[in-house]
Formats: sequence, structure tokens, C-alpha cells
Amino acid sequence: MSEQRLDGKVSIVTGGASGIGAATVRLFAEKGAYVVIADIQDELGKEVATSIGTDKVTYRHCDVRDEKQVEETVAFTVDKYGGLDIMFSNAGVGGSQSSVLDLDLKDFDNTMAVNLRGYAVCIKHAARVMVARKTRGSIICTASTVGSESVSGFDGKGYVSSKSAILGLVRTTCGDLGEYGIRVNSISPYLVATPLASKVLNLDATKVEELGVAAANLKGIVLKPIHIAQAALFLASDQSAYVSGHDLVVDGGFLAVNQTFK
Ligand code: NAD
Repeated sequence: MSEQRLDGKVSIVTGGASGIGAATVRLFAEKGAYVVIADIQDELGKEVATSIGTDKVTYRHCDVRDEKQVEETVAFTVDKYGGLDIMFSNAGVGGSQSSVLDLDLKDFDNTMAVNLRGYAVCIKHAARVMVARKTRGSIICTASTVGSESVSGFDGKGYVSSKSAILGLVRTTCGDLGEYGIRVNSISPYLVATPLASKVLNLDATKVEELGVAAANLKGIVLKPIHIAQAALFLASDQSAYVSGHDLVVDGGFLAVNQTFK
């Protein structure tokens, strides 16, 4: 099989200033893509763009809770790089964990606004441009293993609900967009040590990694942001040309084992 390349493809990576998004920005750029990093952490986002050191990567402030900012970021991307082939909707917040008896609806609403509504808005505006320009594009959403399976120690109501709902969003939007040749898929990562995971679990990166390794099915390898980026590369590239409506689980068999034996 030939190498997966994205030469000349134009992409947007939301949440590209940190963690999984930043690793994906680097990989997409290395594989020849133009990348717009869309995030709200301006300093960090600019640092990622600068460190890659090419004018093919640009940072743009974009709060995915605001439809206008998403629409403008899509328009900016088309204007700057001449089109849009790939939307990696990946920005996320962890929200708080509590029993439903103490549910904080402000926190719940914010989590859904970023992790679900923001994804719908990114799909909508990316797809509109792709349809108008007759681009057979690829839209990729970051879900999570917690969207499919209860994971002990993690029960953020907004987070888990949003990640389950992304799977439904992908199923329904891939139905709308198939006739235009646009593919929509999701990736469900297992636990990766990132600022989001540290915040949710209240553990530093080393402890998050240790927790992931201890509960993992697949031994001898630590899941890193680059592994999720590689899944995104596959779904972005022409090597997944007939893959749509799929959830690519990157969990070393964690879900399979839990669903089978728990
Ligand atoms: P991260 O904190 O490193 O990155 C999340 C990024 O999203 C940050 O740069 C943040 O600024 C950005 N963001 C937050 N709110 C935003 C908004 N309103 N608009 C635009 N950008 C916003 O965390 P990460 O783990 O790399 O998270 C990336 C995705 O992966 C998230 O959707 C997360 O839910 C998902 N995920 C993470 C794990 C894990 O264990 N880390 C597992 C499964 C899924």
C-alpha cells in the first residue's frame, strides 16, 4: 500500500492548539496538507503553528460554541488556501463529574455546546462549502470510548452524553452527505494523557498515563496523541475512500474486551 499523503489538501483542525489536535496538525502538515488550527487558546495555537514553521499552517481564533466564528473560519480557510477538503472536529471540554442528583446544568450546557453543538456546526459549515465546491471531502469527529461503554471512575454526565451523541450525529450526517461524495466518520480514543484528561481526572500527565496503562487491554504500548492523529490521517486520506459512517475505535481492544466479558 502506498504511503498515506495529504498533498495539497486543505484542512481545519478544531482544538488544534493542544493534545490530540496538536499532534494531528503536525502530522497533517508533515503529510503535505494545509492546516488551519481553530482553537480558543491563542498563544498555544500560535506556538504550534510557529513551531511547524511553514506558511501552510495558520492559527485562527475560533470558539466552536459560536456558529458565526465557525462559519467565518471555514470562509477564511477557503479564502487563504483555496478550498476545504478535511474538517477534523476535535475540540473538547471535559466538564465536571457528579451524580445526577447534583447535576450542574450550566456545566452540562457548556459541555454540550462545545462537544456536540460545536460538532454539528462544524459539520454544517464544512459540508456547505464542500457541497458548493463539489469537493469529495472528509469530516472526522472525535468521540470517545466513554461514548460507547461505561468506564469506571469516569461519569461526567455532559461529557459521556456528548460523546455518545457524536456517534448519532455521524450516522445521520453521513446519510445526508453521501450523495455529495462527502464522508463523515468518528474516532473513539481510549485514555490519552492530555490537559483535558488531567483536568477531568484531577491527575497529572504521568498519573493519567499510569492509569491508562493499568486498565489497558493492549500491553507494551502507551497510547499517545500521535496514535489518534494516525487514525485521523487514515480517515482524512484517500486510503479510506469508501469508509463513511464509521467509528474508528483506537483503544487497543479495550471496548471489545469490556463489552464481551463485563
Ligand atoms: P486537550 O485539552 O489537549 O485539547 C482540547 C482542545 O480543545 C484545547 O486546545 C482547547 O483549547 C480546545 N477547545 C476547548 N473548547 C473550545 C472551544 N469552545 N472552541 C474551540 N476550541 C476549544 O484535550 P484532548 O484530549 O486532546 O482532546 C481532544 C479531543 O479528544 C476532545 O474532543 C476529547 O473529548 C477527545 N478525547 C480525549 C481523550 C483523552 O483521554 N484525552 C479520550 C477520548 C476522547
